[in-house]
Amino acid sequence: MTGPALSDSELEKIGEEIRHCTRSHLSMTRTNSVPGEGSSNARVMFIGEGPGRQEDLEGRPFVGRAGRLLDELLASIKLDRKSVYITNIVKCRPSTETLDETLPPEKARDRKPTSEEIAACAPYLEAQINAIKPQIICTLGDTATRFILEKYGLKTGNISKVHGRTYSADNVKIIPMYHPAAALYTAELREILEKDFKKLAGLLAQRTLAG
Ligand code: URA
Repeated sequence: MTGPALSDSELEKIGEEIRHCTRSHLSMTRTNSVPGEGSSNARVMFIGEGPGRQEDLEGRPFVGRAGRLLDELLASIKLDRKSVYITNIVKCRPSTETLDETLPPEKARDRKPTSEEIAACAPYLEAQINAIKPQIICTLGDTATRFILEKYGLKTGNISKVHGRTYSADNVKIIPMYHPAAALYTAELREILEKDFKKLAGLLAQRTLAG
């Protein structure tokens, strides 16, 4: 069996586990878990924080407003969703409803995942990275950036300081970026994200040349 087929079935197996997972209390308030999507052969993996309301409803990552901006940014460097892999640190929506059982679901808001929720989900992301073996990981926002830089033993820092840098770790480059949701209302952040995507394009071109 060839490499891609193996990682395809491996990813599918991880996805199935995530769809049935009850490791954290986030599973109690989810509509769908959101394993991730894209190519098992992807050279680039994008990692966000966690599903929002729309992602929870559809079971797919980055399908709301932030997702539309991510699609535009990908298109600006001639990449599309099918050629990359997109996932999150936590696979179920972290909403205020999970922390307050008396809150009616329609009043639930998105929130950052807690460190316990992140720890419960971490083996899935590790397994996805091992199956895909991306050349480049782009972390979207502070939560993903801290998690990934720490995982690879790199010094982490505020996203305003580390975005757009290229870090080298075990056979992978890491580029932290602002979260697209942060750029929805701030033109300046959108420009920064556009520039950081150009850096990603430059790195991809170099690595193509290097074979
Ligand atoms: N924000 C994220 O971090 N991930 C998603 O999938 C959607 C919004």
